Amino acid sequence: MHIFDTREREKVTFSPEKDNTVRMYTCGPTIYNFAHIGNLRTFLFEDVLRRAIQFFGMGVFQVMNITDIDDKTIKRAKENGLTLEEFTAPFEKAFLEDLDTLMVERAEEYPKATDFIEKMIEMIAELIEKGHAYQTEDGDVFFRIESFDRYGALSHLKMEELEVGRSTRVDSDEYQKECACDFVLWKAYDSERDGNIYWDSPFGKGRPGWHIECSCMSMHYLGETFDLHTGGVDNIFPHHENEIAQSEACSGKAFVRHWMHSEHLLVEGKKMSKSLGNFYTLRDLLEKGYSGREIRALFVCSHYRSQLNFTFEGLHAMRKSLARIDTFIERVESAKEGVTLDLSSFEESFKQAVFDDLNTPLASAVLFDMIRFVNGKMDEEEVNGENVLEILRKWDKVFGFLFAKEEEEIEPSILEAANKRFMARKEKDYALADTMRELIEGAGYVVEDTKDKCLVRRKENYANGR
Ligand code: AMP
Ligand code: ZN
Repeated sequence: MHIFDTREREKVTFSPEKDNTVRMYTCGPTIYNFAHIGNLRTFLFEDVLRRAIQFFGMGVFQVMNITDIDDKTIKRAKENGLTLEEFTAPFEKAFLEDLDTLMVERAEEYPKATDFIEKMIEMIAELIEKGHAYQTEDGDVFFRIESFDRYGALSHLKMEELEVGRSTRVDSDEYQKECACDFVLWKAYDSERDGNIYWDSPFGKGRPGWHIECSCMSMHYLGETFDLHTGGVDNIFPHHENEIAQSEACSGKAFVRHWMHSEHLLVEGKKMSKSLGNFYTLRDLLEKGYSGREIRALFVCSHYRSQLNFTFEGLHAMRKSLARIDTFIERVESAKEGVTLDLSSFEESFKQAVFDDLNTPLASAVLFDMIRFVNGKMDEEEVNGENVLEILRKWDKVFGFLFAKEEEEIEPSILEAANKRFMARKEKDYALADTMRELIEGAGYVVEDTKDKCLVRRKENYANGR
């Protein structure tokens, strides 16, 4: 497989180091809230990646951390008068439900940061011992980035161009590129800030910083050097840069062989934010009547290295495309006798697209090319659809939405009216078509005309964003 490696800044040939199994770490959610659709885009990229790995005959062992301790979870737990566990547990559950709604394959492990505090403490102690970390008078422990000469290699920071003084430090979990300074490994307890959330350690009461958790848990499950590490582009700096520094300073070995990062999701051309009113969780979209399948398909068919501009128009276009796929599958399923079509060129194009750094837009174009081709043939002669279905099933190992048609209960009389409308439009009997539309709409349904069918959906399930 060819993948775009963030550190190399180019496409490289990728294969796992051992056992034909890809050891892969994916930064997971911080469970202080429901995941927003931007987060979910990244998790869907990682899902397509693991599916593609398996499509090409490799095994995969994926670890995704669940951040249940950081500045945000502590602040919110304290504000709500809950323990950390009481506060985060519902969001962890919701996160796993969201993955199911989007038909994301489960990773092999979902470790939680709070289960690894002991290990993180050991790692911090080792970093101090090796001269890579130091404790301040306030009790915080910092990583000394001057002690690690490859710092900045992933994000291509030019350290000499940044004004990094010996004493510049940052103790918040997230910060910007202008701030390449010593970062926090252990935060000393502050009763004002932390309430009663702390752990005991050789460096005093406190709790680990955010970055150390991923170094610790990834190496625990995957070894000191593993194949692939992924996340959204905002993770490149500082988070992943810091992970490399901590891990390599500790182990003395290369931490990760390849890095992949997905671009951000925008909503109607803008960064998602509560104040702009364009901030959506998956649940918000489900409430508006969209389905996990539609959202999955929209995200999966865009390329992970391009920004995705989420719009309701785009989601509606995807709904129509899915209807075309469903109609096609129905037609092929009932095509049992006739010639077997040679579709090898489509198969080859699909493989090449996925092989080339997960080019899913191209792969979905190949899908629709094949649909057009097969439909054309079926109009001309009797076709045996068995091999078509077989190919679709193979491709669905990557897409994961082709065979997930949602059934909506629609009264038979309405289906009949929809059918009549479709035929009437075909025969240019617009008066009858209009009558049928009025009948359908009067019964609480909405109509959507496609090339192959007149689709009807219950109004209450239909998005208002149209
Ligand atoms: P967080 O819960 O903030 O740690 O983020 C979880 C994952 O979502 C990380 O891999 C982030 O890089 C990614 N992410 C955050 N915001 C967006 C966005 N707008 N679009 C795509 N991915 C995002
Ligand atoms: Zn991480």
